[in-house]
Amino acid sequence: MKNTKRREFIKTSFLSLSGAALLPRSLKDAAYNAGKQTEIPVLPGRVLGRTGIKTPLISMGTGPANNPNFVKSAYFSGVKLFFSATYYGEGNNEKLVGEGLAGLPRDSYVIGTAAPPDGMDTRTGNLPAQLDVDAYIKKAETSLGRFGLDYVDIFLFPYAGERDVMLNESLLKALLELKKRGKTKYLGIASHGNIEEALTAAADSKVYDVAMIAYNYKTENKKSMNDALAYAAKAGVGVVAMKTTAGAFNNKNQANPLNSDAALKWVLQNENITSIVSGMSSLEELKKNLEMIKNLKMTDQELKDLNLAWQDSDPGLYCHQCRKCVTQCPYNLEIPTAMRSYMYAYGYRNLEHAQHTLIEADLPDNSCSNCDKCKIKCTAGFNIKERIEDISRLKKVPQEFLV
Ligand code: SF4
Ligand code: SF4
Repeated sequence: MKNTKRREFIKTSFLSLSGAALLPRSLKDAAYNAGKQTEIPVLPGRVLGRTGIKTPLISMGTGPANNPNFVKSAYFSGVKLFFSATYYGEGNNEKLVGEGLAGLPRDSYVIGTAAPPDGMDTRTGNLPAQLDVDAYIKKAETSLGRFGLDYVDIFLFPYAGERDVMLNESLLKALLELKKRGKTKYLGIASHGNIEEALTAAADSKVYDVAMIAYNYKTENKKSMNDALAYAAKAGVGVVAMKTTAGAFNNKNQANPLNSDAALKWVLQNENITSIVSGMSSLEELKKNLEMIKNLKMTDQELKDLNLAWQDSDPGLYCHQCRKCVTQCPYNLEIPTAMRSYMYAYGYRNLEHAQHTLIEADLPDNSCSNCDKCKIKCTAGFNIKERIEDISRLKKVPQEFLV
């Protein structure tokens, strides 16, 4: 009891949110008796490129889920495609998803997971000098064990961006071997930076069947991004979109929530996007999303709301991962990764993933406190120093208080 109170105290004080806003969602979700529901609705969907998989317009990013029953609820609500990653909850999320889908017909759902090779720099997306092919294969097989499955449908190489990295000989050898051994049906990439290059390389590779990319109304250079999407789709790459609400809120106080239906509909106007991978964390959110896909036509109000959000002078929470800040910092701090952590904490309220990402950023302690003035010109307009000092507090919070 004492620990529970302390955990909630840390969450509320860190995020400056009311306790009510952080009521444990799992309690409500656990109460949902998914097993009783037998008829699974068929939701509006599209085909995932050359995989031929017909999937609803909403898929589940399972990272924020903290209860297997919630995953099961999504399945019985018609969701078919579930994406996890080895780095969500240090593998525990894969276990949770496996538990949620256990006993259901294997061909009735599609599982994707992502794992970086050991030694990969997940901040820059660079591979180690010598990629250990056998170790990477073993890592992927261990992930299957956590799901309790013989195979996953889609195995993703994450943090993709550079063409040379995606086409690295050892990497492709490991990925193709996984496919050959029947451990995955399809291969894919996940990318939230340098996305256009990643999409083009995926299309040219003839190896990657699926691309999960960050795409939202704040996407820069929409014309060239849409061209890259069209190129990938034409080559048969099935594209799913993540980060579709661009942080969901305009600032850390969450005073001004984005019209999420408008943001998601905007993404789905592009027919080269097969489905949105939504990191849902509650039944309310699930139901809202499934209602939204019944009619993709944007209302005047939705267009207005999105336009207002677009014009808002507040820089918001979404970092474009353009990396233009890194060379401007005399210490070359890994600012883009720290800014993703900031968004996970204040936008998606996923403190566990925020901390994991912050640790990846590997910022030295008090990294900005000895620096008098931050002259960084951020593409998104963030006050970098302020945000780094703020999010750095999360680094030392014990993990058990964040779950
Ligand atoms: S310049 Fe700004 S938007 Fe670009 S990566 Fe850095 S923090 Fe993100
Ligand atoms: S305040 Fe921090 S981010 Fe800004 S220049 Fe100094 S060390 Fe870099």
